[in-house]
Amino acid sequence: MLMMDPPLLLLNEMRPLLAKKAVENIFFKKHLRQHSSIVIDEFIHELNAKIAPKINCLACANCCKNLEPGIEDNELEKLAELAGTTTELFKSSFVGFDGETLFLKTKPCTFLKEFACEIYTNRPGACKGFPHLDGKDMKYKRSLWTNYTICPIVFNVVEHLKMKLKFSHAA
Ligand code: SF4
Ligand code: SF4
Repeated sequence: MLMMDPPLLLLNEMRPLLAKKAVENIFFKKHLRQHSSIVIDEFIHELNAKIAPKINCLACANCCKNLEPGIEDNELEKLAELAGTTTELFKSSFVGFDGETLFLKTKPCTFLKEFACEIYTNRPGACKGFPHLDGKDMKYKRSLWTNYTICPIVFNVVEHLKMKLKFSHAA
């Protein structure tokens, strides 16, 4: 018998589930300890490759509305130029510093217009890499669990990973 892939959930469908999933994920994180990091990384990379192309970011933009992407010192000048202002003015209005890293501090991001990034081809490296599902030791990354609550790609990858690992949790 042919197994159908379960449907992908969009932002408005995943949001009502997040409180219940927060509890479930405590157990899932424990479950993940039984599996090697290499295997989990492979599954996450595979699922990301399958799921990401099926999610329409231009109907979402939730990352650009809710996150503060890090920026490198050498990206600052270009971003200011793209914003049509000086580096100093751009920095004072739109850039924060947490003691280690510079980041774009406005929410939504100042470069977000409707659902699209108006500097898409020149967006910071941190934005290009989002949702950061192609790294190593994914099961240990705190950002995975933060991004799970924000990004439908991450949410669906993790939910499909649960199915792949035959994880179940009775509430
Ligand atoms: S720079 Fe573009 S991609 Fe990055 S957060 Fe802002 S709008 Fe989104
Ligand atoms: S990367 Fe995730 S949060 Fe950002 S627009 Fe795409 S689906 Fe939405």
